[in-house]
Formats: sequence, structure tokens, C-alpha cells
Amino acid sequence: MINTVQGFNPTYYHKQQQSAPAAKTPEQSPSLMEIKPWIPKMKEVIHKSRYAAPNMTDQDWVLLACSEALKSPAGWGRVGAVLVKNGKMMGKGASVGGLRIHAEMDALKNAGTLGHPELNKDVTAYVTLQPCNFRDSGVPFKSCCHYLAESGVKKVVFAGVDPRVGEKGLDYLRSHGIQVEQIQDPKIQALGEKIFNLLDTPIPSSWRKELC
Ligand SMILES: [Zn+2]
Repeated sequence: MINTVQGFNPTYYHKQQQSAPAAKTPEQSPSLMEIKPWIPKMKEVIHKSRYAAPNMTDQDWVLLACSEALKSPAGWGRVGAVLVKNGKMMGKGASVGGLRIHAEMDALKNAGTLGHPELNKDVTAYVTLQPCNFRDSGVPFKSCCHYLAESGVKKVVFAGVDPRVGEKGLDYLRSHGIQVEQIQDPKIQALGEKIFNLLDTPIPSSWRKELC
């Protein structure tokens, strides 16, 4: 069971961007050191998605989404999303700041299928953190659960849990006929949460080069 924390904390989301902190090497940051061993695996799945996509597993696609999440800018929760149809990637995206452009929406826009259920019938969205559902908490615009539902994706597979969203967001998706699954590997679940929580920690440029 996922614990649901009620309420939305605007302070967290509306905080002003601070001046960029000095870049650190992974060795200077405990959180980066936890993620570092995954970089070669992410590189591997990027390669696999290009040359052996039909062999990609759910875990592989989530790891690919993790590599996208590491491209999110500092200052916000980092999330990545990949849309897959019949073993082929249709689009990918990352949260690019604030509440308005989240990874799921970015991926749907990049795939050209945002708001087009007829194009997403067989699409699975792989995301590094469960999709947000903050409109019910007073935010006046759509959140990722709403975009996924109105775009009619078939399934959502996610890694980490966001305790602010919890079961409520997943129930929303299910009530719109979307299958929902959490990746069962606890290490990948934790990876999605760790990447989200990097927040202001800059991503080493060497990682960005490896993951492009
Ligand atoms: Zn979202």
C-alpha cells in the first residue's frame, strides 16, 4: 500500500530558483554516488532501445526514463517519461521546471499524441515517479494523471512513489481505464525517488555526455 499525504505544499513548488550551486563531482555528493553505478546501465539501455528495442523489458524502459530524468534542470523534482508502442519508443520527455511542464506531458507533446486517445490506444507510459494528481489539491490546471487520462494511454508503469500523490492518483488513472503497475524491483523504485530528490544537485556534465 502507498501512503497518501493529503494536501499540496505551494512553498515547495513556488520556491524561487536560487543562483546555481557550484557543480560537484559525484564523489562530493552522497546522492550522486548512489546514482553513479546506474549510469553504465542507463547507457546500455539507450543503446538497446536503438538497436534491439523489441527486447527491451519494462525495467529497461524505466531505466531509459531515468536517463531522461537526469536531463531535467536543477531546482525542481527530476522526472523522466518514455512512451512505448509495440516495442518502439514514440516519445520521451523530462520535467522542465515548475508545475506546468512535467515529464509525462513533455513526452506526449514530443510524441505528438497529447490529447489524442486514438493515437495512444496501445501506448505504455514508463515514468520514473508515479504521475502527479495535484489539481484535486487546489492547483488550477491539469496535472499528469489528467493528461495521461485524456490522452488515453493504455498503461502506466512507474518506479518511485510520490507520497503526496499516493493511491489517489493511481485510482484516478484506473478509473479512466488505464492499467497501472509499479516496477517490482525495489532498487529501481528507489532510483526513481533518488533522482526526483536530487532537486538542486547539479548533474555532472560527464553523465549528460554519456546519456545523450
Ligand atoms: Zn506531473
